Amino acid sequence: AAAPAATEPLVIMGAGLVGTLLALYLTRRGHPVHLYERLPDPRKAGLREARSINLALSDRGWRGLAGVGVTDDIRKVGIPMYRRVMHDQRGQLTYQPYGQEGQAIFSVSRDSLNRTLLDLVEAKPDMEITFGQKLTQLDLPARRLHLRDVASGREYDVPYQRLFGVDGAWSAVRGAMQRLDRADYSQQYLEYGYKELTIAAGPNGTWQLEKNALHIWPRGNYLMIALPNLDGSFNATLFFPYEGSLSFDSLRTPEEVEKFFGDVFPDVVPLMPELDTEFFNHPTGSLVTIRCWPWSYQDSVLLLGDAAHAIVPFYGQGMNAGFEDCTVLDRLLDDLGEGDWGRVMDEFERLRKPNTDAMAELALYNFVEMRDRVADPRFLLQKRIEAKIAAQYPAKWLPLYSRVTFSPDTPYAEAWAAGQKQDAIMARLMPHIQVEEDFEKPEVQEMVKSILTE
Ligand code: FAD
Repeated sequence: AAAPAATEPLVIMGAGLVGTLLALYLTRRGHPVHLYERLPDPRKAGLREARSINLALSDRGWRGLAGVGVTDDIRKVGIPMYRRVMHDQRGQLTYQPYGQEGQAIFSVSRDSLNRTLLDLVEAKPDMEITFGQKLTQLDLPARRLHLRDVASGREYDVPYQRLFGVDGAWSAVRGAMQRLDRADYSQQYLEYGYKELTIAAGPNGTWQLEKNALHIWPRGNYLMIALPNLDGSFNATLFFPYEGSLSFDSLRTPEEVEKFFGDVFPDVVPLMPELDTEFFNHPTGSLVTIRCWPWSYQDSVLLLGDAAHAIVPFYGQGMNAGFEDCTVLDRLLDDLGEGDWGRVMDEFERLRKPNTDAMAELALYNFVEMRDRVADPRFLLQKRIEAKIAAQYPAKWLPLYSRVTFSPDTPYAEAWAAGQKQDAIMARLMPHIQVEEDFEKPEVQEMVKSILTE
């Protein structure tokens, strides 16, 4: 029988973004927690590359952070981005606000976020974090972890009653669960990889592109994006095919890289002094969607974050979805109590799976939007018309992006269903609209009204 809940340390595997937030939630509920992490402590000097990589944090993520009262710590390291700025091949800019006036997503450094969460975790009593410990095997029926101390190579076992697998897209916890009967698993790669590059800061740490924006260079079947850093630089990410006439495979020399960037991203090349070195030294990352089921084992193991649902990054929702996992689990523990973990885990996966599946679809959908559709004037016109419909019928219409990003009360699956419905409506409406003013025409107004009251 399980030890009494109050004294039994809950084990969390993985001190990434979601694992650390989960630790804060679980200690807040009065549980001792033991967090294991394969990598060394990132806060120890000299262990990390100086390179900073940032992420977009939005309302679902903020809600997750707010639940443990840490938003102020994170806001200090975030930069609000109010709109998309699209750069065409001649360096001409177009703009698309993310939401209503004042609504923003935030660019935060992954490293600062992780360090801040680790500091907060470590300050809690009854919390143990052991770095440099890799889960190598998991005996699910016996509830035993097999760990390796990475530095010394020493291997040892640890028993547990409750284990949370937040060890990322290549989760070892999930790996053990996949070998069980009736475990579903799929992984799908895009034929695209990504490369992280740097847009340099200007004099005195100034920003050489609009600071409070997410920049996009949409180029049809590929794109580059850039998010601002506090030091004036931007992290740019090129999403590009692995193979083909224009691809990672086709750019083999510094001359080829310079020519390609000069041709297709002429406005930023002068701001990327390290382009060649970074292009050849930084790894090419792959992009994968991972789906699995179930996410739990009896009443003893639960997967959360990327371990349960890794998605492609085009909606900026992977971490946000993982933070939302923490909020949902915490609410279930409030509602169902902690007497029956089996029920909590079942309910969690049942509630969450349709939503993270929808999020996976949304992320793939947004890839096409970002690399291609945002370069189409008709698409941007459609977005402006949608904003007008939303302003006129606020109770009936909310743009899909706002449902996903700024509406944490709306589950992802509902957002996705409503978005598809709205897309179908726009497909009927747009043939009647050539310029923004057409929206005011009585026949268009009539049509909108009748569709929305159908
Ligand atoms: P991770 O952050 O991967 O953490 C897992 C941890 O487990 C790691 O510390 C790892 O070392 C540890 N671990 C792994 N295996 C073991 C083991 N065997 N033993 C012990 N420890 C182990 N999300 C957003 O919300 N917004 C964005 O803008 C965004 N941009 C992205 C851009 C890119 C290019 C990519 C690739 C992802 C992006 N994401 C974004 C997604 C986001 O990075 C992930 O969803 C998030 O990091 C998931 O957190 P996690 O804690 O579940 O996993």
